[in-house]
Amino acid sequence: MLVLEGRAYIAGRIEPRAIGVEDGTIVAIKKQLRGDPVYRYGDALILPGGIDVHVHLREPGMTHKEDFASGTESAAAGGVTTVVDMPNTIPPVSTPEALRQKLRIASRSAHVDFGLYAGPASGRDVEALRAATAFKIYLAETTNAPAIPSFEAAGEILAAVAGTGAYVAAHCEDPRLFRKGVATSLEEHHRVRSPRAEASAVAELGKHRATTPLHIAHVTSQDALGARPRDATCEVTAHHLLLDVTSKLGPRAKVNPPLRTPKERTDLWQALVDGRIDMFASDHAPHTLDEKSVRFEDAPAGVPGVATTFPLMFRYVRRQTLSLERFVAMFSENPAKLLGVNKGAIAVGRDADLVVVDPRRIESITASRCRSKCGWTPFEGTEGTFPTATFVRGQLVAQEGELVSERVGRMITARQG
Ligand SMILES: [Zn+2]
Repeated sequence: MLVLEGRAYIAGRIEPRAIGVEDGTIVAIKKQLRGDPVYRYGDALILPGGIDVHVHLREPGMTHKEDFASGTESAAAGGVTTVVDMPNTIPPVSTPEALRQKLRIASRSAHVDFGLYAGPASGRDVEALRAATAFKIYLAETTNAPAIPSFEAAGEILAAVAGTGAYVAAHCEDPRLFRKGVATSLEEHHRVRSPRAEASAVAELGKHRATTPLHIAHVTSQDALGARPRDATCEVTAHHLLLDVTSKLGPRAKVNPPLRTPKERTDLWQALVDGRIDMFASDHAPHTLDEKSVRFEDAPAGVPGVATTFPLMFRYVRRQTLSLERFVAMFSENPAKLLGVNKGAIAVGRDADLVVVDPRRIESITASRCRSKCGWTPFEGTEGTFPTATFVRGQLVAQEGELVSERVGRMITARQG
């Protein structure tokens, strides 16, 4: 039996504990356990591994930006033990063949566990894509992703997914409300694709949903949160919480939906603290610096982020802006519930996906620490607290950001019953 000793977060409390792991599963939690090997972490915290339900690992088709190996190495470096990859790769995951191809690629190269989104073009495509973890719909066009043509068509996809056990994640922006004109700055981009357009898409989608579990991707504003159907879940990115239109990053910080004003960003924080947002997700969408170093209007949308959610947001646990309980719910527990997987908590019977962090350690975030192939981060030089070790089903995958075991990742499956 493998044993980890440290101050573990168990059922909402931190206690000095020994966690015993066999065959990738937590089999015992005691004050003391004998085992081999034993990892002694002393005063460091042991938390459940992170689950990021929104990443773009760019393989196949755009592997100069990222691939499954580099993207999941970046995940492990940032304490993320499960990622769910978006379907807008080349070819898009809109056919069973494309889904099988991506599963083959991910199975042979992923360093952490993974799920795969399918992107059906219509309700008729859903049945053939049932092997996917979940489904993604884009209500407005964004980089490399065509939009579903209407809310009625989106409703047909939602209806087709009902009863499959999967959920639908929606990129909510209503293109009918986009302002005319080309945005040449972060401020203009925010006005063209406004919070009103975002809220409208959320509200319209609410009218067309059946009983299907619905997840709203990357909310950026109070308006969007207010429009959300009662039982829909939602996610927030670190970049929408920490950057706004006053950023000096220009095209590098171009994302969809856009960064908002400082006022809207403050409101988003309040919603997070109040518990009105269910989970963090990075929307890790890497592009190379060359691709981003162009005029604003020509730049592709997206920033890398799978490695930085933990170090950035854990700072606020240290500063007591965010409770540890809320952090773990946002980073691990709630995404595990959404996916229906046997992860997201330190408990006997759960997968031993664990991260170790020394809360006293503070370092500067750098691109090299983040390990993404794209080679940059919008948070270069920002203070953060990285995990010191990341375990996937009991295997030490990353230590101090260095990859220790390779290609241990598996496709996730929903828990029975
Ligand atoms: Zn995305």
